[in-house]
Amino acid sequence: MSLLSKIPRPLHGDVVVRREPCRICGTGDGKRIGVVDYWDIRTSSVIQCGHCGLAQLDPMLTHEETAKGCLAYYIEESLRVTQHEHERNLVRNYRRGIHFAHTLKRRGANPKDVLEIGPGSGYFLEGIKAVFPEITITVMDVNKEILDFNAQQHGYRTIQATLEEHNASLDARFDLIIARDILEHVVDVAAVIKNLSAYCRKGGLFHFITPNGHEDVWKHYLTFTDLHENSELLINHVNYFDGKGLCDFLGTQGFTPVEYYTYRFKTSLKGKGWKRAAKLRAAVSKKLEADPFVNDRIHDVQEMSFNKKKVLSAWYLRNPDGTLARLVCAFHHGYLLTLDPFHNVGHEIHGIFQRN
Ligand SMILES: [Zn+2]
Repeated sequence: MSLLSKIPRPLHGDVVVRREPCRICGTGDGKRIGVVDYWDIRTSSVIQCGHCGLAQLDPMLTHEETAKGCLAYYIEESLRVTQHEHERNLVRNYRRGIHFAHTLKRRGANPKDVLEIGPGSGYFLEGIKAVFPEITITVMDVNKEILDFNAQQHGYRTIQATLEEHNASLDARFDLIIARDILEHVVDVAAVIKNLSAYCRKGGLFHFITPNGHEDVWKHYLTFTDLHENSELLINHVNYFDGKGLCDFLGTQGFTPVEYYTYRFKTSLKGKGWKRAAKLRAAVSKKLEADPFVNDRIHDVQEMSFNKKKVLSAWYLRNPDGTLARLVCAFHHGYLLTLDPFHNVGHEIHGIFQRN
């Protein structure tokens, strides 16, 4: 028997009536596979839709709840991650951008107008710009600090909005849309993808990465089924995608896969998605209090500033479009081993889809 016929293991749970219908397909019931506490802000079930395969928080977080928890998480992370680690992450994202841009080049794509939702530091886009210097860049986020950082550091055009809101002035404006590690966070994923489909020109590309939902939800599933306890959710992963369900939904929104695969299998080998082991469980919830945490710690957060030239001063990045940079970036961020996401095996899903 091949390994892939053993993993992943299907998730079992009682079928329950949902508080809110599935955001993708509208189904009113689903399998209860976990219960999470998002800080002390909200307790939700994790319900997997039997129709489209998407697992989601039910009830879903509101935008206000998300903002509150995100601030608490941002502070927690800022106090944990050093300036040096931050800078290393910027370089990594820059290299990933270079690597991705060369993937596009090989495919004959030559994007002119790019939109990234949830751009983070913006260094992934800087990597793309190093290869396509003529590109114009717009970033959209709900968080003003992130947008200010992107404007100051890189000079990008910024739009402050919730991603679920449709902005008709952006329709058919972009030939490349990027959503890296953001789809798992949004409260209404169907609305977001519908908007992106509208913003994308015919023939344009949509690139995303998002965790393989089956492995991502596994920790909550184990805590729920082994211990019958609520688990702790500090970072707002509210959508857990099924590889087939996500592809099918994108298909209904006018997107056809160009590249679609999962990558990074260390976590799969360790048992995520198939093995019942105590160390794979999510922590039992302590209902960490978001407000007191924010009030106590916000003053400890140091304002970080980055000197872009210094951050990107590595010798191999002197000519970012050159062979050397391309090789180093491919070495660090190319994946030799990939699988069809329909297997739901692997840490992360990578997609490049074309708008019909
Ligand atoms: Zn569904």
